[in-house]
Amino acid sequence: MIKYKTRGDLIIISGTTCAGKGTVIKKLLSQHNDLLLSVSYTSRPKRDYEIDGIDYYFVTAEEFKRKIDNGDFLEYAQVQNNDYYGTPKKEVSEQLASGKDVILEIDVEGAKQIKKLFPETILIFIMAPSMTEVKRRIISRGTDTKEQIINRFKVAYNEINEVNNYNYVVVNDDIDKAVAKIDAILISEKLRVDRIEEIAVENQEEIIHELLMDKEFDNTKKPIE
Ligand code: 5GP
Repeated sequence: MIKYKTRGDLIIISGTTCAGKGTVIKKLLSQHNDLLLSVSYTSRPKRDYEIDGIDYYFVTAEEFKRKIDNGDFLEYAQVQNNDYYGTPKKEVSEQLASGKDVILEIDVEGAKQIKKLFPETILIFIMAPSMTEVKRRIISRGTDTKEQIINRFKVAYNEINEVNNYNYVVVNDDIDKAVAKIDAILISEKLRVDRIEEIAVENQEEIIHELLMDKEFDNTKKPIE
């Protein structure tokens, strides 16, 4: 009998702009009841389509700084336009302790901080198949100015330089295939030997004794001489 540790896995998913990590995560969540997405705090303004408490907890920069001083974050970073983004400590710790796996969708700086704190974190980086494809996706989305697009590219190239800090890279050229690859990663990680708390096997002498006493085995093949 193998007894695995019951604590959940902490999983970081980062990725370059337009790599489709939001869609990949949504699909993963819909397929796994024991997988949760941590809701971050941010000081950036809420977008029209976002819901407070679901997409982020939206707070002012002052509230955010108070929470930093209280030690409320596992990690935090100033990501875009100097806005703060942070992972809440209490919620994530409770979710992991209850046996749930928790995804943090955070940037490369936050990922470094978490890896230092919890070296066993599973770090996955999602990439678009090419930067030409990223360009096509950004332009077809039609939400950014030329300047914003160039800025996104600069950030993306910097992020790609941090890939060595991750355990896995998944190229998202097809959503279903990318989700299947992440599924495979999560399944393999659960089977790691260092996750085993206890291996209890039956006593060797008893098993051999039972075999010797078992009449059924008297008729088994004799070795060829
Ligand atoms: P957006 O403003 O577009 O929702 O997110 C911008 C970036 O912030 C994304 O790259 C996202 O991964 C990152 N991010 C979101 N939440 C957190 C967080 O709690 N911590 C860190 N370090 N980055 C975050």
